[in-house]
Amino acid sequence: MIPLSSPHVHTPYCDGKSTAAEMAAAALDAGFVSLGFSGHACQGYDPEYAMSAEGEAAYMREVRHLRKEYDGRMRIWLGVERDTFAQADRSLYDHIIGSVHYIPCGEHYISVDGNPTVLADALKTQYQGDGMALAHAYYDQLAHYIKDYRPDIIGHFDLVRKHNRKLELFDEADSAYLRMARPAMEQAFEGCNLLEVNTGGMARSGALEPYPILPLLKHWRQLGGRVILSSDCHLAKQIAFGYEKGLALIRQAGFEQITYLGTGDALFEQAALPRI
Ligand SMILES: [Zn+2]
Ligand SMILES: [Zn+2]
Repeated sequence: MIPLSSPHVHTPYCDGKSTAAEMAAAALDAGFVSLGFSGHACQGYDPEYAMSAEGEAAYMREVRHLRKEYDGRMRIWLGVERDTFAQADRSLYDHIIGSVHYIPCGEHYISVDGNPTVLADALKTQYQGDGMALAHAYYDQLAHYIKDYRPDIIGHFDLVRKHNRKLELFDEADSAYLRMARPAMEQAFEGCNLLEVNTGGMARSGALEPYPILPLLKHWRQLGGRVILSSDCHLAKQIAFGYEKGLALIRQAGFEQITYLGTGDALFEQAALPRI
């Protein structure tokens, strides 16, 4: 049996729908051995998605309090999910998930996973309707960010495909798309060798597969990368949503080990995956 855990959980201090206490209770109920909170780091735009400075301080207090409360039952870690343009004091956190949600758009930033109408408009006005060019902007930014910033975990590597079905940005199976994403993955690997297999899109937007898609996950294995299963949870009852599918994908990609948040002092532990 694989130890259950998630390094990626949100609360109402950013855009989560369940409190930290509800998340912890749901995780313990589900049999989790550890749990990592990861509020969206403070940023100067889209305030409803991120923590405020005061909110961040309260978030840290609350998670530290829960860590004590759950001591001996489930190890709780205080983390943060940081976007390229956000701010986080690394010394205050146990783990950092490096994610890209925003790409520059003229004077502003637009999110690739936010309102699809806004993204469609940016596609038209900034990228001449070329979805591959938009994807390139995303991957280029992600690759440089992860390589330079060196987070503990890479968040939802191919988030740019979130609205792909609706907006028809690119063909995910096309070799031209994969020829763009794979070098970005190789560059990111230089800064971080732990990638999440993220089921959050399955829980929240009806995606059929976790991030990233199988060909990219296979490429990650060939590079020698490690994987961690993550629910990117915003609602307590979805604490382990899609985990069967996520594990199946990890095994299908050929991984023999999985990483999870530690149960003691070490941030990460490894478990062997049963062979298929
Ligand atoms: Zn995210
Ligand atoms: Zn998240």
